[in-house]
Amino acid sequence: MAKLYFRHGTVGSAKTLNLLAVAHNYRQQGKRVLLMKPEMDSRYGRENIRSRAGLEMAADILLSVDSDLLSMDFTGVSCLLVDEAQFLSANIIEQLREITLLQDIPVLCYGLRTDFRTRLFEGSLRLMELADSIEEVKATCHYCNRKSIMNLKHVNGIAVLDGPAVELGAEEKYFPACYECYSTQTARSCKEPLSLLE
Ligand SMILES: [Zn+2]
Repeated sequence: MAKLYFRHGTVGSAKTLNLLAVAHNYRQQGKRVLLMKPEMDSRYGRENIRSRAGLEMAADILLSVDSDLLSMDFTGVSCLLVDEAQFLSANIIEQLREITLLQDIPVLCYGLRTDFRTRLFEGSLRLMELADSIEEVKATCHYCNRKSIMNLKHVNGIAVLDGPAVELGAEEKYFPACYECYSTQTARSCKEPLSLLE
């Protein structure tokens, strides 16, 4: 049976660059890989997987909650690579798990562990539960030199702990942060301790 991998990291940890490098290595050896990403992630155009470093490749399959991967024929495919896996629904992660079992194809999922509120994403939660291998792609805190574990969100230059996922007209930025810097930054804009923000 092939393995299901979850490679998680904060924003800025070069997860997509890592994914594209794996795809490049397989293809250089003449092997076939398929690149997938959630349909909703349209930052760089519907069909592309692009890293912040500027490299990009076309996505072969766009995944939605209704995707039926188990009826697809992956004959001759050496590996499935999934970008932004945190945005996938639990049922898609379960289908990817079945592919490793039934079709013996390794599946490598890259994504964020938690959102800017420190909570697991749906796809990340199911991957934590089902993956054979959970690896951290490391990055450095934006404010100090410790390892980042949180994704800090700024709206119009102010750190936020809550609010809508997308605010129209607002400038949103995400920064990798260690827990201490995350706490310091968010404390400036919010007086409530994290535990009260359910
Ligand atoms: Zn820090």
